[in-house]
Amino acid sequence: MKLNKEMEKILECPQRKVEVNLPVRMDDGTMKIFKGFRMQHNNYCGPYKGGIRYHEQVDEQEVLALSAWMTIKCSVVGIPLGGGKGGVVVNPKDLSEGELERLTRAYIRAIAPIIGPETDVPAPDVNTNAKIMSWIADEYSKIVGKDAKGVVTGKPLEFGGSKGRDSATAQGGVYILHEFAKEKNLVPAQTKVIVQGYGNAGSYVAKILHKEGYKIVGASDSQGGVISSDRFDPESLYQCKIEKGTVIHCGLAPNCKVITNEQLLEEECDILILAALENQLHKDNAEKIKAKYVLELANGPTTPEADEVLSRRGIVVIPDILANSGGVTVSWFEMLQNADNKYLEVDEVQAKLLPIMVDGWKNVSANAKKYNCTLREAAFITAIERIETKRPK
Ligand code: NAD
Repeated sequence: MKLNKEMEKILECPQRKVEVNLPVRMDDGTMKIFKGFRMQHNNYCGPYKGGIRYHEQVDEQEVLALSAWMTIKCSVVGIPLGGGKGGVVVNPKDLSEGELERLTRAYIRAIAPIIGPETDVPAPDVNTNAKIMSWIADEYSKIVGKDAKGVVTGKPLEFGGSKGRDSATAQGGVYILHEFAKEKNLVPAQTKVIVQGYGNAGSYVAKILHKEGYKIVGASDSQGGVISSDRFDPESLYQCKIEKGTVIHCGLAPNCKVITNEQLLEEECDILILAALENQLHKDNAEKIKAKYVLELANGPTTPEADEVLSRRGIVVIPDILANSGGVTVSWFEMLQNADNKYLEVDEVQAKLLPIMVDGWKNVSANAKKYNCTLREAAFITAIERIETKRPK
């Protein structure tokens, strides 16, 4: 794309990074310090936007990578938002609900000077949810002394959330898949799908595709996977996972077996959907992947080394920055609804999402042909060309 060298330097680093240390009173009376980050990568296209992750392995580099992907992702689909991301080094399962709330409120007090409905708008990510977002909206509103719900998206409906946000990432990925399926003449009833990561994005995508006739033949979570020689009913699998905590206690029909996470990725299927964490396809397993196509709903699930191997082997990867951008797009709808104090129904949300995703696909697909490159490279080109036009001259 003959990228302007100045642009390259600008996008290589975040515009601002903030590290905070949060003292939190634990239930037993002791005090613990938790480390957190907020990374503001780029705001040429609009306010910084990006989720907050609670995970033991959060570090500065991870948050930086995630914030840069947000800049690119918002730009691929042309929504007026920039890229940011936050993270706190914690395993939330080790905390009581009260401790989690105190930690969240402490984090927001620490980053309040740099966030706001028109400057930087966080959202949920791995291990954070609507309840945590409502604590954030409440704490921030107290700090600024007025109702400022629009500081965060992914809120509960009764607290200014958007209908359709919970399924938006999966729904957006499905809209992209429809366009791809048209090009490849995929027939749902003959298309086997495996979903790695049966959480929010993964379970919704399985449920939507099942309704459209696709065969969901495998699924996994952090404890392992299940595979079926026939197909799963994703709704019952989801209900069972909620009840038993993991899908591996659910694949108990005669045609199901429990396998490891590594095995699941290497099973035969048409579409492998990655909806867990980063770096799942890497140099050591890329040669063994048997899927024909990979749909990335997680952020960064394929390493650059694996990307090269998959491309050489003719396995098409529909990249994260396009495939999972439905989530941030509906977050933008939530910001607009909060600003207008006027709320949409689910079918209205989906009707607004569809053309944005289809346009994103068309632009990326056209650039892949124009530059004779992978869909990931084409998505980066599409995004960076747009950011360049918004760059202050
Ligand atoms: P989630 O926490 O609801 O689900 C993640 C799932 O992955 C869980 O079921 C977990 O058990 C499973 N998992 C963890 N490690 C695994 C492993 N090694 N193998 C198999 N499964 C594993 O999170 P989510 O919101 O669904 O997000 C999943 C991914 O999608 C993340 O990369 C996130 O950044 C990305 N994403 C999510 C959204 C969204 O709207 N939820 C939007 C854009 C991107």
